[in-house]
Amino acid sequence: MTGRLDRLRALLELPLIVTHPANVYYLTGLASSNAVALVEPDRLRLFTDFRYLEQARALEDAEVVELPRSLFSELPRHLPVEVGFEAEHLAFAAWEALRDGGVQPVPQREVVERVRAVKEAAELDAIRGAAEITTRMLERLAEQRFVGQTEKELAWWIESQLHELGGDGPAFEPIVAAGANGALPHADPGDAVIGRGTTVVVDAAARLGRYCSDCTRTFATGPLPDELARSYEVCLAAQEQALAAVAAGASGPEVDAVARAAIAAEGLGELFGHGLGHGVGLEVHELPRLRPESRDVLAACGVVTVEPGIYHPGLGGVRIEDLVVVREDGPPEVLTTFPKQLVTVS
Ligand code: ZN
Ligand code: ZN
Repeated sequence: MTGRLDRLRALLELPLIVTHPANVYYLTGLASSNAVALVEPDRLRLFTDFRYLEQARALEDAEVVELPRSLFSELPRHLPVEVGFEAEHLAFAAWEALRDGGVQPVPQREVVERVRAVKEAAELDAIRGAAEITTRMLERLAEQRFVGQTEKELAWWIESQLHELGGDGPAFEPIVAAGANGALPHADPGDAVIGRGTTVVVDAAARLGRYCSDCTRTFATGPLPDELARSYEVCLAAQEQALAAVAAGASGPEVDAVARAAIAAEGLGELFGHGLGHGVGLEVHELPRLRPESRDVLAACGVVTVEPGIYHPGLGGVRIEDLVVVREDGPPEVLTTFPKQLVTVS
């Protein structure tokens, strides 16, 4: 953990309390829904309640302090007067408790997240492993019967395969979106029976240990209507162009713009309404953001998705998503190796 803490400390101007569970885990190794880490220049303290005490005391780097379950009632007396807090994550009631306890809380934005965006070798290995399981799952999925099954049935099959192939679960609830549902980027799998001659967007991936992967492929259940067939080719070309633009130093908006321009040039720009991608790690959505309004810059050893989509309301959708490791001089290392040419299933 020392390297992480050093990188974090280099970004800090005052002590920081860390409350977001993924960030607490990242800095201390404690997985807990009720813990606060206090990062100071030469000290790391971990406050938690009785339920997590044993795990916390087994950790190497942190000094553990037991507090009542309502941590923030007692926390202020252990803190310096001025302390940074995670503006995205601290509840208002907790902020009030700090202030009422005589602490001056100073908002900090995405500091631990910026450190997490650059992965260590062991983290990359876990994410590679999760992506590999995802690829094996997709290979088996392509052999399955789609037509006549419901989206929910396929989603459950996917989830069970991710376990069977050695994953520790899905990284998120699988999306299986057929026909008109495919036009909803975050559709919930429903009871609709999958029919012939449409696209099925499958966005599903394994988690290995605490690390996520992320991948989308779009399948065809027989010959497609012209709009969907053409959109698949446009989406694939845009995805590959954007992949080629992923390199350390490129900004999120720059890479996003490559895919957006390719889709707009075919007159389909209005149908690509979401960002191009996002970082992946302990959480399935983390830094950096690849979107028009992002201010993030890609760094070597970042892990990001590249996932343009084209959505025809009432008809169907297409999305193709790869997970990649950013390299110093591109092109990136692609972790999701299931083929991207359109696969027709029965
Ligand atoms: Zn995804
Ligand atoms: Zn994604």
